[in-house]
Amino acid sequence: MPSARSSDVLVVGGGIIGLVTAWRAAQRGLATALVDPEPGGGAAQVAAGMLAAVTELHFGEETLLGLNLASARRYPDFAAELTEATGQDLGYRRSGTLAVALDADDRAHLRELHALQVRSGLESQWLSGRECRRLEPMLAPGVRGGLRVDGDHQIDPRRLAAALVTACERAGVVMHRTWAKRLAVARERATGVVTTEGTELGAERVVLAGGSLSGRLEGVPEEAVPPVRPVKGQVLRLTVPRRYAPFLNRTVRAVVRGSHVYLVPRENGELVVGATTEELGFDTTVTAGGVYELLRDAHELVPGITELPLTETRAGLRPGSPDNAPLLGPSALDGLLLATGHHRNGVLLTPVTGDVMAHVLATGELPAEARPFTPLRFGAPARTELPV
Ligand SMILES: Cc1cc2nc3c(=O)[nH]c(=O)nc-3n(C[C@H](O)[C@H](O)[C@H](O)COP(=O)(O)OP(=O)(O)OC[C@H]3O[C@@H](n4cnc5c(N)ncnc54)[C@H](O)[C@@H]3O)c2cc1C
Repeated sequence: MPSARSSDVLVVGGGIIGLVTAWRAAQRGLATALVDPEPGGGAAQVAAGMLAAVTELHFGEETLLGLNLASARRYPDFAAELTEATGQDLGYRRSGTLAVALDADDRAHLRELHALQVRSGLESQWLSGRECRRLEPMLAPGVRGGLRVDGDHQIDPRRLAAALVTACERAGVVMHRTWAKRLAVARERATGVVTTEGTELGAERVVLAGGSLSGRLEGVPEEAVPPVRPVKGQVLRLTVPRRYAPFLNRTVRAVVRGSHVYLVPRENGELVVGATTEELGFDTTVTAGGVYELLRDAHELVPGITELPLTETRAGLRPGSPDNAPLLGPSALDGLLLATGHHRNGVLLTPVTGDVMAHVLATGELPAEARPFTPLRFGAPARTELPV
């Protein structure tokens, strides 16, 4: 079998998570390679790019909150370092977020969320409907109240992905632009992958960062297969003509009749409206129903959007895990590590994931902040039999 030079670390998957892992590993002096037919593609081409540790807090996800906050704190330095390393602008914008309620039910839900945020020590300010509209005059007159969260920022995920590709190349990461078909295993240890062309890429350690496809790599022993599933999200992109700017000053979001809708305004005039949440396997069809739902809910929130040109509709796949939190670190198979399952927060979690994975690759130790996210937490099925 033809074999390419072996590396210390081989990353399978060049989405933002695989790329940041490879970049940080190479910076630690590890000989690093990455395999992906299209590095910089993946869910980042669709994602809105909210860095929303506070407004994305959900009941029951308080453990994940710690990691989300750790990553949010790293963002300013991370973005500055990546821009310095590549000369590329990332569209990083610290303009804050406003989460609003349109009716009494939404308002009650938002009040509960505010209480949880306050209990968790987060900065979030309750505003009346009038105060919300003073901040964002394009909001519907019916807005009943909202939460002002200045610490939830945004980045353009497409620019982030492109910059990470450049950073990897500059740091000496070897890019294999093809698919890994199968994991190579010898003496119960991962030794690399075999590509679709039949080439073996050898490595001391393999990091599986295949996003929603992470459970599909052949040859991974059953106990090490990540329990990751695709969660479809449809997103629209509109353009704000110069004469309307600034249309919105910050990210505006709401729960409308139980569905989440958000509008993320970029500095370049792009307005991202998202997102549906659908459990439909690997389907990425943009549907009339999905587009209708997003426009209907966004229009209820900000009626003026119907005046804007609709420039793109797209669907992507979030890598969902059973507890909505990522899987980071060694798997049940020696030599195979996982960096996947980032679900709705992969853009936010990019900086901390890079640091955690580089640390574990360089030292063998999972840092304390990442221990709750070990892939082994889903490992052995719970024993039900009583001891004899
Ligand atoms: C609609 C939508 C909106 C979102 N909004 C936000 C947001 O506002 N904020 C936020 O923080 N996150 C958001 N996310 C989530 C975020 O985009 C993802 O969590 C993140 O992009 C996942 O990155 P990844 O690198 O793990 O996976 P992916 O982006 O899926 O990349 C995986 C890569 O691995 C490659 N690959 C897979 N298998 C193989 C193989 N066998 N061989 C070679 N290559 C392989 C694929 O080609 C792909 O390039 C959103 C996602 C969606 C879909």
